[in-house]
Amino acid sequence: MNSERIKVLLVDDDEDDYFLTRDLFAEINPSYDLQWVSSYAEALKVIGRTEHDICLFDYRLGEYTGLDLLREAVSAGCKAPIILLTGQGDSGIDIEAIKGGAADYLSKTGITSHLLERSVRYAIERKRTEERIVHMAYYDGLTNLPNRSLFLDRLSQALTHSNRYKDNCALLFIDLDNFKKINDTLDHRIGDLLLKGVADRLNCFVRSADTIARQKARALASTVARLGGDEFTVLLTEIYSMQDAAKVAQRILNSLNSPFNLDGHEVFISASIGIAIHPADGEDMDTLIKNADTAMYHAKENGKNHFQFYKYSMNETALERLTMENDLRRAITGNELSLLYQPRINISNGTIVGTEALVRWEHPVHGTISPTRFIPLAEDTGLIVPIGEWVLKTACRQKKIWHGKSPVHAPVSVSLNISGHQFSQGNLASIMEKILEDTGLDPSFLELEITESAIMKNADATIALLHKLRDMGVKLSMDDFGTGYSSFNYLKRFPLDIIKIDRSFIKDITNSRRDATIVKAIIAMAHTLELKVVAEGVETEEQLRLLQDMECDEMQGYLLCRPLPAVHVHEFLEIWDNMIRKNEKR
Ligand code: C2E
Ligand code: MG
Ligand code: MG
Repeated sequence: MNSERIKVLLVDDDEDDYFLTRDLFAEINPSYDLQWVSSYAEALKVIGRTEHDICLFDYRLGEYTGLDLLREAVSAGCKAPIILLTGQGDSGIDIEAIKGGAADYLSKTGITSHLLERSVRYAIERKRTEERIVHMAYYDGLTNLPNRSLFLDRLSQALTHSNRYKDNCALLFIDLDNFKKINDTLDHRIGDLLLKGVADRLNCFVRSADTIARQKARALASTVARLGGDEFTVLLTEIYSMQDAAKVAQRILNSLNSPFNLDGHEVFISASIGIAIHPADGEDMDTLIKNADTAMYHAKENGKNHFQFYKYSMNETALERLTMENDLRRAITGNELSLLYQPRINISNGTIVGTEALVRWEHPVHGTISPTRFIPLAEDTGLIVPIGEWVLKTACRQKKIWHGKSPVHAPVSVSLNISGHQFSQGNLASIMEKILEDTGLDPSFLELEITESAIMKNADATIALLHKLRDMGVKLSMDDFGTGYSSFNYLKRFPLDIIKIDRSFIKDITNSRRDATIVKAIIAMAHTLELKVVAEGVETEEQLRLLQDMECDEMQGYLLCRPLPAVHVHEFLEIWDNMIRKNEKR
């Protein structure tokens, strides 16, 4: 205690008394940092803000008393012990002070440095002992993790919080596999070291996961606890989906993969994890604990070293997504992604004006996977950023190759779908610049397709980015128009060149008057804003005729051609070009 500086807060409205106290402290030991505050109001502010090792409150504080301040400080959660200083004639308040939570009281008359020091030292020491006792009651002696009592307390808090904010929390029950064997074959001391080692890895892992995940101010921290023996729990609060819980469980299992070096022994251990989600798997603590435990037993029965949700159906979905996520990571580097290109024509003269790049995933086991299945997963996991970059690079390179082969097709642009996540990354413009520079592609051949939802999220920032891209010479189109906000006000504000009417409107255009009217209105409005209109998903001649009557500018769809592999696009363009020329001659 002598080596550390002790922070003292003195609240006294009498300056002379402050000087007196300061001199007394100076006599005792120079290691006291004394902060003086002269009013009740100021004291309240300081107590909430600064941590002190000890507080000294004078009994007389203008219209208030030191007892008032004591009660305020205690109820505000002040952790420092408090000593009340009394003057002459303040007799009888000693008992009240102690009852109110004071550590001690000292009469200012007859105070000496020795008395002051003793009182301060005792108060601090007593507080530390109290804290040690509380720690012993709530923390596990071996691993220093919260014990069962504290875990139950935190769980109860988490459930209240989860009910109040209508979100989910997950309870992970972790049991080490074959721990008994290790305990029996190597001795208990090694068993203890292993439990400590596991606790450290769990704690470290959950803490780091927490600092990343906790963005909301009101979030409760997650808790790792040891219930006893080789049983641990992890309580995850405010999870967005059960997938978050699956991810944490999988990472915990991975974190146990590397061996523990315990006093010269290399020890391997795995664990089985049961997961119960609140409120789906139990609204109260007992049910939730029981169900997480049951799930853990199933995990053990099914071969250990894995996790299991309480609801069986959840296992498959979670596992499928986890596997798919891992596979998708590999897909990017493993050449499993490819691009198809779907041509688009000018309706009035039939010339090809562009090709849209559409990504495909060739999974080694599951075959071709549609972007509608893996793009949402890629967005959730952030993998959309490297995928998007790959798409950009590949399509720009490809366009350059076609261009070199036949400059006749020069006006044919290549359009790319940009996801909202790529937009919010903030460096899309610089990525684009770099790719255009590397490939030497003229930006006027490039068109970016964005959806309404992607740009609405952060409209102001997006407008700036869109302008930047347009200034670079890139064209911009709004994809799937009609499925989102369909706000013409936004269309006016965003620097766009083209809107693409979603296939869902084109599909019934010939037999639904309502859809036909909507499409007609969209085309008319877009033209007043000087935007070109593309109809997506045109499949029949009737649809095309109707669109022509409505003066729609361009179309894309199976009627013209399905998305093609790059090697066939050039060929298609040649054939189509020849056909158009022949028609013109006739
Ligand atoms: P999208 O951008 O609206 O692309 C048009 C989709 O409609 C494509 O589906 C295309 O194959 C399909 N399609 C075109 N014509 C017809 C037709 O006549 N009938 C029918 N039934 N369908 C037609 P695909 O390739 O499965 O792509 C689906 C969506 O996935 C795309 O919708 C786009 O939102 C997204 N996507 C595709 N590639 C990428 C990419 O590289 N990045 C991002 N972020 N999203 C992509
Ligand atoms: Mg598109
Ligand atoms: Mg579309």
